[in-house]
Amino acid sequence: MADEKERKTPLLDELEKGRWPSFVTDLKKIAERKPMVKDLLGQLELSYKEKKGHWKHGGLVGVRGYGGGVIGRYSDLPEQFPDVKMFHTTRVNQPSGWFYTTKALRELCDIWDKYGSGLTNVHGSTGDFVFLGSNTDVLESIFTDLSKAGWDLGGSGSDVRTPSCCNGPARCELACYDTLDMTYDLTTTYQDELHRPAFVYKWKFKMAGCPNDCVASIARSDLAVIGTWRDNIRIDQAAVKEYLDNGLDITSDVVLKCPNQCIRLEGNELSIKNEDCVKCMHCLNVMSKALRPGEDKGATILIGGKAPIMEGALLSSVLVPFMKMEKPYTEFKELIESIWEFWDEYGVARERIGECIQRVGLGNFVEAIGLEPIPQMVSQPRDNPYIFYEEYFEEGDEEE
Ligand code: SF4
Ligand code: SF4
Repeated sequence: MADEKERKTPLLDELEKGRWPSFVTDLKKIAERKPMVKDLLGQLELSYKEKKGHWKHGGLVGVRGYGGGVIGRYSDLPEQFPDVKMFHTTRVNQPSGWFYTTKALRELCDIWDKYGSGLTNVHGSTGDFVFLGSNTDVLESIFTDLSKAGWDLGGSGSDVRTPSCCNGPARCELACYDTLDMTYDLTTTYQDELHRPAFVYKWKFKMAGCPNDCVASIARSDLAVIGTWRDNIRIDQAAVKEYLDNGLDITSDVVLKCPNQCIRLEGNELSIKNEDCVKCMHCLNVMSKALRPGEDKGATILIGGKAPIMEGALLSSVLVPFMKMEKPYTEFKELIESIWEFWDEYGVARERIGECIQRVGLGNFVEAIGLEPIPQMVSQPRDNPYIFYEEYFEEGDEEE
């Protein structure tokens, strides 16, 4: 354990000043009963002083039968801070939409207090409920207690990461499909892929109920499922009038802000040229009592989003403009599996699907997974004349 001198934290103490709650204050409180957190504060103070991290990069740890779910973390100063010599992270598969009862939260915290540092991260960027800081020798016990209470580990490493979603129809009238059900379904269908890393790199699913995309699936997942509709936005003209009576300036706040100029207000009547609507959601967000998504609902499927690590950040691109999202999601699962088959065959180590598609070309990718190329896959017209189509080289053409 670190001595008193090392536990002095003048730099971290600065972060307790001011109006806002401080994680340093929380850490100090927990440190009174957890030696691990005392050493954590000591190591963090040293990092602030030296402007240098003292966690080694990764390391392999886990529980029996699972390849993912626990991320190894080791201090590079084990002699100076022996209680954080090991400080592993355990990912717990969160409920769809992050709905917990207080009983469930207490259950998780009790398990964690018994074995680990007591520090949590709710929620990690993948979506899981994250337990921060434990030794290797308690991992199996943590897993046993979690399993007995009905919890499971999430994904880590080159596997399906814990699928996550917005709270969709549970709380939001804009949801165009049941994000919660679909997330649960994918989590149980792809248990093997979630717990046993067999891919070339990580794979993230995120489900957003509508184009507002509250889970930022377009930027933060390899396969984004974003709810949409293909018929007309439903308009309640009485509610439009109510907005006008209550002083909403529909012309400047809605009509003029429609990116495709497809809304008109004549008197008290609102009309929308639905074929020009690009589903930006602005009008529906501003006039939520008067406007609702259409009734023919489903989702747009986008592929290839990722954070900057490795080759730089990518936003997803449209793969399927509209697919019905109804149980048992057969069409969607067939699409996933054909993509995985392609990625297994052609992906190279630590290459996300978005990077793989960039390397092999979107045309080759869609052909290999059996999709027809469509205009929605193209973000801008090509400007390179040195691209030839296969049809140009049909028999007899080569000699020309
Ligand atoms: Fe509601 Fe859409 Fe946000 Fe989901 S993404 S919570 S459906 S607004
Ligand atoms: Fe216009 Fe956006 Fe409303 Fe569509 S959703 S009508 S593009 S403001």
